[in-house]
Parts: sequence; structure tokens; C-alpha cells
Amino acid sequence: MTEKELRREPGGLQVPFTPAHPETSIEAEPRLPTEWDYEADVVVVGTGAAGLAAAWVAADSGVDVLVLEKGKVVGPRSSCSAISGGTCSMVGTPLQREKGIKDSPDLYYEDLIKVGKGWAVPDVVRAFVDEDAKLYPWLIEELGIEVMSFEWSVGHSVPRKIRFNPAKAIKIVKEDAERKGAKILLETPGRRLITNGCGRVVGIIAENRVGKKIYVKVRKGVILATGGFCNGEEYMRNYGGIGLELCILQPPWRVVMNRMSIICLPLKYR
Ligand SMILES: Cc1cc2nc3c(=O)[nH]c(=O)nc-3n(C[C@H](O)[C@H](O)[C@H](O)COP(=O)(O)OP(=O)(O)OC[C@H]3O[C@@H](n4cnc5c(N)ncnc54)[C@H](O)[C@@H]3O)c2cc1C
Repeated sequence: MTEKELRREPGGLQVPFTPAHPETSIEAEPRLPTEWDYEADVVVVGTGAAGLAAAWVAADSGVDVLVLEKGKVVGPRSSCSAISGGTCSMVGTPLQREKGIKDSPDLYYEDLIKVGKGWAVPDVVRAFVDEDAKLYPWLIEELGIEVMSFEWSVGHSVPRKIRFNPAKAIKIVKEDAERKGAKILLETPGRRLITNGCGRVVGIIAENRVGKKIYVKVRKGVILATGGFCNGEEYMRNYGGIGLELCILQPPWRVVMNRMSIICLPLKYR
């Protein structure tokens, strides 16, 4: 049955949101579930920096937020974010002003396009630099994340890089999101999106600790923030390089890589 035919079915369609994940494929959903295990306005999948920031913002705006995390914990054993270098470039900060450094989103944009050597997508970079000025007031001033150093990044025309402890930052954002009402389910990987007959996402299927399906009804939307692409063979072929492709597609490396999706990044950028 084709996807088009599936969409005509009254119950709609389940769409795998990690298309290249070996355990997922597009399948017909004869009916929408009659009973839902959970219900939320917004469901966020993943508790790295992206997922927690999204959960925080959604909870702060007063909607019901449910966060699904496949790992046993929120932090270094699950996300790349919590073990990263903990540096973020921030533009127009008090640290720059104290040192008389003149910076602007336009200058940051020019630097990133130059550093990207033709790979950066201009519209994405533009959106990124325009939103960047909100980062310092939120992370440092509102959430109180401690600045460890203020540095100059290679290729940038002025110092704007701020370093902090990434695991602590993740913990702080998580706890604040929870205080604002976000509920986090651990060991609960999201597996498929559920769409209705018109193709609108109305739910998500996850799994609990023992592999039982959990149906979550979604009133406003799902935010996918599942991070790395090591589960995706196609992505690995396109972006991982030949050596990486060979080892990632073979056990036992495949298992190791699936657990540590982080590894692909240093290899890719070597
Ligand atoms: C060694 C290293 C150092 C780095 N240093 C820096 C740095 O200094 N500055 C910088 O800006 N960037 C740095 N990066 C890159 C940066 O860490 C990543 O781009 C960023 O952390 C990605 O965040 P994320 O939230 O998208 O994904 P992640 O942090 O990877 O989070 C994804 C989360 O989703 C969960 N998940 C995955 N699949 C599912 C599922 N099906 N259901 C439920 N949950 C799921 C995972 O368990 C994880 O918790 C570094 C990367 C590496 C590897």
C-alpha cells in the first residue's frame, strides 16, 4: 500500500520520525488508538540541549509538556549536550561590553558564513544569529549558569565564546523546566508519530522499560530533538565517510555507535 493510499484510511498513518532507524518503517495504522496512556499539549522527544530548551520554553508559556527520553537519566549518560565542550558563542553580551568589544548579529553572520566555507545554509545561519542575543540573558542571567571563561574562537573576528560546565547546565535547565511543569519520562524512546487522515500529527507511540507500546495524545505538536544521526545508515553514508560507514554498519561497532551517537561528530569533522 502506498503512503498516499494510507493517508486516505480513516485512522490515518503512523510515521517513523527517525526514518533511517533500523526498527522503523512506515506502516498502516488501521485506527487511531481508542485509549491513550498520556496526553499533553506539547511532546518533546530527547533531553539534550535542544529538547530541554524546547521543553523549558513550552512549559514557560503555560502549556502541558511531556518529554520522552530513551536514556536512563538526563545528563552525560544520555546526551551529547551534557558531555560537549560546553562552549557557546553569544553576541552582544555584557562580557563583550566590559572589554569594549563591538559585536553584532551581522558580524557574527559574516564570520559563520566565512568559517563555513560554503557549507553553511545562509537562511539557517541568519535565523541562528538573530536568535543568539537571547542566549546570554536566558542561560546566564535568568538560569544562573556560571561562566567559566570568555574566549576567542578560530575564524571569528571578535571574542564571543563563553564556556560553562555542560552537565551542570543541562541539570539546571532540566530542573527549571520541571519546576515550570514539564514532565519527563525516562527509558521511554519515542518510536512513531501518529497522524490523522489529513496528515496532522495527533500523537506519538513510545515504548516503556519493558518494550510495551505507550500511546501519547498530542494536542498542539511534537518537537523532535533526538540529536545525532548514528542510527541512520543513509546519513552515515552521506556524512560519515567511508571508514566510519564500514565500522558503523557492522556489529559490534554498530551497537557501540548507537549508544554513543556522539562519536560520529569528531570523526566527521576530523
Ligand atoms: C565531544 C563533543 C564536543 C562538543 N562541543 C561543543 C561545544 O563546545 N559547543 C557546541 O556548541 N557544540 C559542541 N558539540 C556539539 C553539540 O554537543 C551538539 O550539537 C548538541 O549537544 C546536540 O544537542 P541535541 O539536543 O540536538 O542532541 P543530544 O544532546 O544528543 O540529545 C539528544 C537526546 O535525545 C535522546 N534520544 C535519542 N533518540 C530518542 C528517542 N527515539 N526517544 C527518546 N529520546 C531519544 C538521546 O538519548 C539524548 O538524550 C560537541 C560535540 C561533541 C561530540
